[in-house]
Amino acid sequence: MRDEGNGAIIIGAGLGGLVAALALQRGGVPVRVFEKAGELGEVGAGISLAPNATRALIALGLGPELKKIANSPKGMGRKDYATGVLRALDDSTGYQKKYGAPYYQLHRADLHALLVDAVRGHDRDAIALDHDFVSYAADDDGVAAHFVGGAVARGALLIGCDGLKSVLRGLMWGVDQPRYLGYVAYRGLTPTASLPPGYVTPDAASCHGPGTHFTRYLIRGGETVNYVGFARRDDWVDDGWSVPATVDEVLESFAGWNDELRLIVNNTEAGRCHKWGMFGRKPMPHWTQGRATLLGDAAHPMLPFLGQGVSMAIEDGIVLARAIAKHGITPAALVSYETARRPRANDIVERSAARGEQVHRPSDSTDEMSVGLPPDIFSYDAVNVPLS
Ligand SMILES: Cc1cc2nc3c(=O)[nH]c(=O)nc-3n(C[C@H](O)[C@H](O)[C@H](O)COP(=O)(O)OP(=O)(O)OC[C@H]3O[C@@H](n4cnc5c(N)ncnc54)[C@H](O)[C@@H]3O)c2cc1C
Repeated sequence: MRDEGNGAIIIGAGLGGLVAALALQRGGVPVRVFEKAGELGEVGAGISLAPNATRALIALGLGPELKKIANSPKGMGRKDYATGVLRALDDSTGYQKKYGAPYYQLHRADLHALLVDAVRGHDRDAIALDHDFVSYAADDDGVAAHFVGGAVARGALLIGCDGLKSVLRGLMWGVDQPRYLGYVAYRGLTPTASLPPGYVTPDAASCHGPGTHFTRYLIRGGETVNYVGFARRDDWVDDGWSVPATVDEVLESFAGWNDELRLIVNNTEAGRCHKWGMFGRKPMPHWTQGRATLLGDAAHPMLPFLGQGVSMAIEDGIVLARAIAKHGITPAALVSYETARRPRANDIVERSAARGEQVHRPSDSTDEMSVGLPPDIFSYDAVNVPLS
């Protein structure tokens, strides 16, 4: 039995669980993160972090390291899907001035590694691998988490950061399967050196074709082009998170698109093209029961069309730590956390789905799409949002 006494048990060492762990550690709360995988890692894909997320990560003391591993796009463009001609450009260098925090694009694995190091820097035993959470029991004194093989961990609070198929969510609210939402994402990484010099201009851009949508941006100091193409598809059966895909099937889904897309996809690094179906759930009316709560995709899985899934998990982690700092490591802190966070996260779930409809119309919608997202998404400040 691992006994965290007056500490928190976190289930899942994804980006959400690690941010929550770090935020709690910085507030002096003992934390153990239990991860079912035998080794730590993240999928080979890029991620966008809008100012609402970077503001929160900077508040965790990660600013200088984040700057080293992230690309801050100079411009974010909208291109014509058929010709590749630039139709609109957002000068994203202005985000720092406008929102007080930068817009970053980076490799998910680099952010994950940064968080793992930071959490282990506070406590080298903070993350326990090979712990597959199966059940829990709570009483007046605390909560016990049970794992496959019989291991038990005890603490004051249990935080489920176990993703879309959250076991804790099922235990608290009943098991329901995530629904396929009708979109497939194709993701790939292409070495920039395989393209003509200066080809990737501006360094972030997207196009909207009939029922399809393609975004590409530079990561890793401009060495790699990360791309993700979304297509509506009714016949998805695989519920794998990351299924190998071929360049030909991506090109087939984007037939009639511009030369830039074809060249980037054709030069995908071997083994670096994947696809997955988009699954989700309806927004929940509750996240918390007594000493247990949910965070990140476990609480609010969303379609990626506002690029806010991880960002919501990052905001959750900051607010959870602040609620615990205010109310102590008690069930009241979880109520305060949920009260502050659920309306914001559920709103973004709904707006991400609505954005999907807007972006994937049967006709080209490039001219109707604004560059940049609604300002209220970026201006949210998890560090200062009022708590009950
Ligand atoms: C195509 C696509 C593009 C995206 N782009 C962006 C973007 O640009 N910006 C953005 O902010 N978001 C983006 N997202 C969303 C983002 O990927 C998710 O919202 C985010 O990864 C959720 O993090 P999490 O930590 O909550 O869950 P996860 O990353 O799913 O982590 C859950 C962890 O829990 C572990 N676990 C599961 N069950 C158990 C168990 N029983 N016991 C112990 N451990 C367990 C898992 O192994 C995993 O490590 C995108 C998503 C997709 C699909």
